[in-house]
Amino acid sequence: MSAAIRISDAHKRYGEVHALDGVDLEIRQGEFFGLLGPNGAGKSTLINIIAGLTRADRGSVTVMGHDVVTEYQHARQSIGVVPQELVFDPFFTVREVLRIQSGYFGLGKENNDWIDELLSALHLEDKADTNMRALSGGMKRRVLIAQALVHKPAVIVLDEPTAGVDIKIRNLLWAFIQRLHEKGQTIVLTTHYLEEAESMCERIAILNHGRIVAIDTKHELLNSHLAKSFTISLTCRDTVRHIPEALAGKVTAQQDNWLAMELNKDVDTITDILEGLRAAGIEVTDIHTERPDLEDVFLKLTYGNENAL
Ligand code: ADP
Repeated sequence: MSAAIRISDAHKRYGEVHALDGVDLEIRQGEFFGLLGPNGAGKSTLINIIAGLTRADRGSVTVMGHDVVTEYQHARQSIGVVPQELVFDPFFTVREVLRIQSGYFGLGKENNDWIDELLSALHLEDKADTNMRALSGGMKRRVLIAQALVHKPAVIVLDEPTAGVDIKIRNLLWAFIQRLHEKGQTIVLTTHYLEEAESMCERIAILNHGRIVAIDTKHELLNSHLAKSFTISLTCRDTVRHIPEALAGKVTAQQDNWLAMELNKDVDTITDILEGLRAAGIEVTDIHTERPDLEDVFLKLTYGNENAL
C-alpha cells in the first residue's frame, strides 16, 4: 500500500529563513498523525506544500502517490485541508458554501446527500440556510471542516482545528474526527494542545527550525527522549527528623512532614523506598508521582537547555 503522504528532502527558504531544511516524512494510510512544533517551526509551510499552495524549493511530495506539482489535480482531489484562519464569503449560506466547494471538484447534485450527512454529523443542520456572517466562531470552524471533507478526500489535514474553540465544541469536533479515523480516514493534525496530540495521535513528529527532531509513537517518544528519573512527593504522619542514609541522597526537597525525591526508573522502586522509610520509623500517609508527559519531551526537544535558564 502506498503512503498517504510521502515527503522527501523538502526544502523551503524565505530569504534568509530556512523554513524547511530537509524534511523526510512518510504518513501511512489510515494513520492518525500529529505534527507538532513551536511557532515558526515550519508546520504551516509543510502543510501548504502538501496542499499544493506553496512549492518546495527542492525535494518531492506526494499525496496518495500523486506528486503535488506534476499531478496537482489528483493530489488536490486526495486531500482536504482545514486551515487555521476563518475566511469565508459572508453572503453565502452554509449550504451554498459547501455546494460551491463541491463544484470546484466537479461534483453536482449527486453530492447533496453527502453534504446533508456532513451538516448533520457536525450539528449544523439548523444553520444550513444561515448566512456565514451570522455564525459563531465555533460554527464557522465546523463549516471549515465540512468544506474540507466535501469531496471525500482520502487524507484530511487539520491545522489547529480547536484553536479558540470552547470545550463543548472541542469535544464534539474530536468525537467527529475520531469517527472519521475509525472509518479509515488518514488524519494529519497540528495542534498547540499537546494533551490533544497525546490522547489522539498514533504517531507524532516534532518539527523545530525546519527539521524533524523526533518521530515516533507517543510511548516511544516518552521512553527514548526523557531522562530516566521521575519525582515522587510523600506526605508523612509526623515531621521527618532523620532520613535513612541510603535514601538521603534522593531527597530533593523537604519541609515538616513532606518530602520530594528524585528516583531512577531503572533502579528504584516505590515499594523499596516506602519500606526503607518504614524501617526508619517514618510512616507515609500520601504519595504522589509525577511522570513526564509529552509536554516535557516537546520542551526538551524544541527548547533544550534554553528552557532551563
Ligand atoms: P509554523 O507554522 O510552525 O508556525 P511557518 O511555516 O509559518 O511555521 O514558518 C516557518 C518560518 O518561515 C518562520 O520563520 C516564518 O517567519 C517563515 N515564513 C513562513 N511563511 C513566510 C512567507 N510567506 N514569507 C516569509 N517568511 C515566511
